[in-house]
Amino acid sequence: MTGKVTLVGAGPGDPGLLTRKGEAALRAAEVVVYDRLIAPELLELLPPTAERIDVGKEADHHPVPQWRINEILLEKAQEGKNVVRFKGGDPFLFGRGGEELDLLAQNHIPFEVVPGVTSALAAPAYAGIPVTHRDYASSLHIVTGHAKAGSPLQINFRALVEAGGTCVFLMGVSALERICNGLLGAGMEKETPAAVVEWGTLPGQRKVVSTLERLAEEARRAELHSPAVIVVGEVAALSERFDWFDALPLKGRTIVVTRPKRRAGALRGRLRELGADVVDYPCIETVPRQENRALEQCLAQISRFDWVAFTSSAGVEVFFDTLWRLEMDGRALGDIKLAAVGPSTAQALEVRHLRADFVPSVYDTEHLALGLAQRTKGPVLLPRAAVGSPILPRVLEEQGVAFTDVPVYDTVFPGEHAENLLPLLAAGETWVTFTSASTVRGFVNSLPKGTDLSRVLGLCIGPQTAAECARHGIRTRVAREATVPALVELILNAL
Ligand code: SAH
Repeated sequence: MTGKVTLVGAGPGDPGLLTRKGEAALRAAEVVVYDRLIAPELLELLPPTAERIDVGKEADHHPVPQWRINEILLEKAQEGKNVVRFKGGDPFLFGRGGEELDLLAQNHIPFEVVPGVTSALAAPAYAGIPVTHRDYASSLHIVTGHAKAGSPLQINFRALVEAGGTCVFLMGVSALERICNGLLGAGMEKETPAAVVEWGTLPGQRKVVSTLERLAEEARRAELHSPAVIVVGEVAALSERFDWFDALPLKGRTIVVTRPKRRAGALRGRLRELGADVVDYPCIETVPRQENRALEQCLAQISRFDWVAFTSSAGVEVFFDTLWRLEMDGRALGDIKLAAVGPSTAQALEVRHLRADFVPSVYDTEHLALGLAQRTKGPVLLPRAAVGSPILPRVLEEQGVAFTDVPVYDTVFPGEHAENLLPLLAAGETWVTFTSASTVRGFVNSLPKGTDLSRVLGLCIGPQTAAECARHGIRTRVAREATVPALVELILNAL
């Protein structure tokens, strides 16, 4: 059986700009052939088993030549694979999508095309430039500024000037001066507004807005490089007024997120929406204990417990997965009461259609223990991390509450990956979010011994996390309550 090739446009950089159809194609891919400049986060949508082939091109330097890419697509499809050819922006706009389909069509390989959001439109949009506007421009011309080494630009400047409208140039940064001179030479006004948008739609987006006459000089002074789009036309003058992206509160701020990858989504997404450059630096992973005899025994006699108290959504997940594996379900809990340390743990219960009978008003293990003591003498089952906070059992003991502490997952530190972080730490004050004491320990552990932590600002979800920071000499700010929204609020206030 032959497979299929789907050309998918990845969008210009902001991972949120992938289309829904593009996402569905990625989720079903067996092989993905992708370019440079593709957001790594989008590759996380692939099934873990998918084969990943990086054919990324550097400017003026093609590690995998186009003919070879075409062949790879053909070979993989002939092996019967469901292949995604994942390309920046839109696959048919200066993307060689057509060339890639040629060989497939010749060989009767089925293919589909999923258009993408092109940088030609999105980079101006994120710079506050509407490419058309009833008062200023009624046409748009998208032009490549790329020329074969040594040969002149193949651009009909006269036609562009006569047509009026907005001109957007892709692949034009190295030819910026020649492009501007070409337009001026063909009679375009010196004072025509013009802009360069570098790394459009990404947290590091930068722009220069000027006039046709001065653009090349100002872009050089600002050291703008590829990838960038050049926008020439009256609409470029709207950039200041309509700038919404640079105006986001966290624009230009780099924030390190240390949560385990699987749980980073909400925090990462919210910080990004606010304009932050989020650096994923997972400092812990939770690994469910396999063959957990202790837990299985507790579950077999679950009815002898008065309460089950959860201190994390990971704990909830392992608890119910194990219950399920033992061929039981939520009914096994009968009238046992459930407690959750905070709202996200309570929510992990809620998605299983179970209500937490108790969530403390302060979301930490001490208040959880005190609240339990007011409600029961036990026994309380505590399915939690193997190295959980010592406070919970201590306070329960002090209060005379009987409990069984069962480790259900281990907290491990992912391997060394400090090389991603050290340049940031060296550059100046670094904002790092910590959502548990174990993320702090994982963070410190990941760095070479003796790393200077004095310029780290720890943005902590609660006092116990902050106390762990203090132990390592990290300055801290602490959220009003232990929730992701309160942590985000803290970050906004820290500005
Ligand atoms: N098919 C792509 C364009 C490929 S050509 C699309 O539709 O966007 C590569 C050129 O696209 C770069 O030289 C640059 O001009 C532009 N480009 C791609 N991503 C960009 C980004 N994030 N910001 C600005 N320009 C970008």
